[in-house]
Amino acid sequence: MASMLQPQIILLKEGTDTAQGKGQLISNINACTAVADAVRTTLGPRGMDKLVHDEKGNTTISNDGATIMNLLDIVHPAAKILADIARSQDSEVGDGTTTVVLLAAEFLKEAKPFVEDGVHPHNLIRSYRTASSMALKKIEELAVSIEGKSLEEKKQLLSKCAATTLSSKLIGGEKEFFASMVVDAVIAIGNDDRLNLIGIKKVPGGTMRDSFLVKGVAFKKTFSYAGFEQQPKKFLSPKILLLNIELELKSEKENAEIRLSDPLQYQSIVDAEWNIIYDKLDKCVKSGAKIVLSRLAIGDLATQYFADRDIFCAGRVAEEDLKRVAAATGAAVQTTVNNIIDEVLGTCEVFEERQVGNERFNIFSGCPSGQTATIVLRGGADQFIEEAERSLHDAIMIVRRALKNSTVVPGGGAIDMEISKYLRQHARTIAGKSQLFINAYAKALEVIPRQLCDNAGFDATDVLNKLRQKHASGEGANYGVDINTGGIADSFANFVWEPAVVKINAINAATEAACLILSVDETVKNPKSESAQGEAAASAMAGRGGPAMRGRGGRGMRRR
Ligand code: ADP
Ligand code: MG
Repeated sequence: MASMLQPQIILLKEGTDTAQGKGQLISNINACTAVADAVRTTLGPRGMDKLVHDEKGNTTISNDGATIMNLLDIVHPAAKILADIARSQDSEVGDGTTTVVLLAAEFLKEAKPFVEDGVHPHNLIRSYRTASSMALKKIEELAVSIEGKSLEEKKQLLSKCAATTLSSKLIGGEKEFFASMVVDAVIAIGNDDRLNLIGIKKVPGGTMRDSFLVKGVAFKKTFSYAGFEQQPKKFLSPKILLLNIELELKSEKENAEIRLSDPLQYQSIVDAEWNIIYDKLDKCVKSGAKIVLSRLAIGDLATQYFADRDIFCAGRVAEEDLKRVAAATGAAVQTTVNNIIDEVLGTCEVFEERQVGNERFNIFSGCPSGQTATIVLRGGADQFIEEAERSLHDAIMIVRRALKNSTVVPGGGAIDMEISKYLRQHARTIAGKSQLFINAYAKALEVIPRQLCDNAGFDATDVLNKLRQKHASGEGANYGVDINTGGIADSFANFVWEPAVVKINAINAATEAACLILSVDETVKNPKSESAQGEAAASAMAGRGGPAMRGRGGRGMRRR
C-alpha cells in the first residue's frame, strides 16, 4: 500500500548491480592482491614459471609478468588495472613487469588497514604521491651513469644489464651467451629506434647454444617453384632488387570476355600475355640484380627464367622481412619494373641460403647500412622457444633503454631497500597522519627483496633484517639479496644491474595504479550496456537520470 502512495525513485535499470563505499574499496584491494599472488612466485632469478593453457589447448610457459597477466583473462574490473600497468611497463621499458604488479598490490595492501580504520582514501593518495615523487628523485640521485665510456666498456656494462634481465628467465643458464648476442644486435642497429629492425626467427630443434646472430637479415626460405634448385644459392656483393609486384602469368579473370572473329587472333592474345611477363622479367635481368625478392608471388615461369640467367629469386617474402632487407641493404622497394635505376638496388657482402635445423634460411650478411640484426633462436620444444623469444625481447628492450638513458641502479632489491630507508627517515621528520602513510609506502617497497628471498627459499625476515641494518649504517646503499648464498651482497659488485628507467617507470606506474584504485568507491555494473538493446533502453531512460548515474559509476574505471 505504502509503495503505491510513494512512488519509487528509479535511478538505474533493473538488474543493475552497484556496490559502493568502504566495502567496495576493500574488495577491490583484495582482488588486486589475489592477482598479484598469481605472478608473485615468478619474480627473480629463482622465480618459478607459469604454465597457462586456454580452452583451445594452447599452452604457454612464461616467467614474464605481462605475458601471464594477459593470458589470465582477468574479469574483475579493478584488478584489470594491474594487467594494464603490466602491459604499459612492457611497452615502455620491456622489463620489470612482475615488479610493477607486485609494487602496486603491495601499496594497496599496506593501505588496507588504514581504509578499514576509516581513513579517507584521499589522504592516503596524497601521501603516496609525495612518497613516489621523493622516491623518483632519490633514484635519479643514486643512479650511476655509464656515459662517456668507451664502446668496449659500454658493451660490457650493457651485457651486465641484459644478463640481469635474463637471469630470471628460462634461458638464464646461458645468460652470458645471449646477453652478448643481444648487445651486439642492439649496437648493430645503432641509434635507430625501430624495434622491428631486430628480427627474431625461431627454428625448433638443436640446443640453445646453436642460436646465432646475423648482422643483417635472415628469413625462412619462401615457397618456391620448380627451377628454384637450379638457381645459385650464394653470392658475393650481389645487387638486390626488391619488388612489390607479381611475376606470374595471369590467368584470365572469370568474367573477362573477349570476342574474336577469327580463331587465329586467339594466339595473339595468348602471345600478348607472355610478352608482358617476359618484358617484365627482362627488365629485372637488365637491371643487373642478382637477387630478386618480391612481396607477391614469383611464379614458375619467372623462377625458371631467373634460374637460366643465374639469378636468385624469392616470392611472397613477408612484408616485415622485406622492409628489413630494404633497411639493411639500402634497396628501395619497387612497384614497377620500368626504369630501374642503380640507386634503388641494394647490396650486401654475402648472400647465401643456408640450412638451419631442418629449415632453409636466406641470409644477407655484411650489409652496408648495418642497421638490422637477426637472432636465429634454436631450442627444443615450441613453448621453450616462444619463451626464449619473449625473454630476448625483454633483454633487447633493456639494452636499448640503458643505451639511451645510460644510467643503471643496483638490482636484487638494493635500490628498493635504499629508497625505503630514505622514505622512513623522511617520515620521521613530518608530523601528523601522513607520517604513517609514507611509512606504509616505504614498507611496501620492501616487497621486492622479500619476494626474491621467498622465491629462492631463503629466510626473508632474516635477510631483510640484515639488509635494513646495512642500509641504515649509511654505507650499504648497494646491498641487495645475494641469490647464490642466501645472505646479502653488494649488487653493484656482483654485476646485478638494472637500467634506472625500469625502476622509475615501475614506481611511477604502480603508484598511479594504486592511487587510481584507492579513488574508486563505487562500481556500477550495467548488464545490458554493451548490447544495442541496452543503448535503446538507456536513451529511453534519459529523462530519469539513468545515463547520468552510469557516467558517474564509470568515472574511476575509465582505463579498463
Ligand atoms: P620482472 O618481470 O619484474 O623483470 P623478474 O623475474 O625479471 O621480474 O625479476 C627481476 C628482479 O630480480 C629484479 O628486482 C632484479 O633486481 C632481480 N634479480 C635479477 N637477477 C638477480 C641476481 N642475480 N641476484 C639478485 N637479484 C636479481
Ligand atoms: Mg625481468
